[in-house]
Amino acid sequence: MKNYMTVQEIKDNIDFVNLAITLKNIDAKSREDMKLVCEEEDLNIENLTSNLQIHSDIVTLINKDNIGQKIEGDALITNINKVPLLIFTADCVPIGIIDKKNKAIGVVHAGWRGTYDKIAQKTIEKMSKEFNTNPKDLICVIGPSIGPCCYEVSEELVEKFNTNFTNCNEKFYIIRNNKYYLDLWKINEYILETSGVKKENIINLNLCTSCKHDEFHSYRKHNQTTKRIGMIMEIK
Ligand SMILES: [Zn+2]
Repeated sequence: MKNYMTVQEIKDNIDFVNLAITLKNIDAKSREDMKLVCEEEDLNIENLTSNLQIHSDIVTLINKDNIGQKIEGDALITNINKVPLLIFTADCVPIGIIDKKNKAIGVVHAGWRGTYDKIAQKTIEKMSKEFNTNPKDLICVIGPSIGPCCYEVSEELVEKFNTNFTNCNEKFYIIRNNKYYLDLWKINEYILETSGVKKENIINLNLCTSCKHDEFHSYRKHNQTTKRIGMIMEIK
């Protein structure tokens, strides 16, 4: 098995970034494992920067003062090259954001709390403030995460989302055999689109970590595993 996957549309169309998503034989929380990935994909591990993730909506700008740190929060943005940004997930939604015009990037950890708090929108807003990003120039990747096929939640949680996302026609959940399934992919796509990202620039890999638990870590499927998928992105 390979250590990581790449995204062909990004490889083919955007020459200034490296984006890798680690597979099951890598634990992104392990520095040793990430060293393998960084060597293979030519990422600069010395500057590897990540979050101490707390299911918040905190977005942090990475500049020369905090490169290489582990920062409390759930999204990171930068326009400095050779600084890989790393997000950990196992069922939660990892989102990569690329500003092709200003050569800036962002990575986002969106579980249901981050999704509810619209962390993807807040990340784009901060990129606009810091890098003068126009959302129309953004390419976004929704990485492997638990899909509406498998993400069973309580009726109360569905109701909570319904009250926060009222003015849209999309249905963000499925009812099957009297059980509720939340669609975090669709909600995050909606958040990206309402933030100004063009629909055709949202690449949803449509990889469900629970269905594809042979390839990816899944918190639910793997009995609350502590291992994590890494979405890692660097400006070359
Ligand atoms: Zn599934």
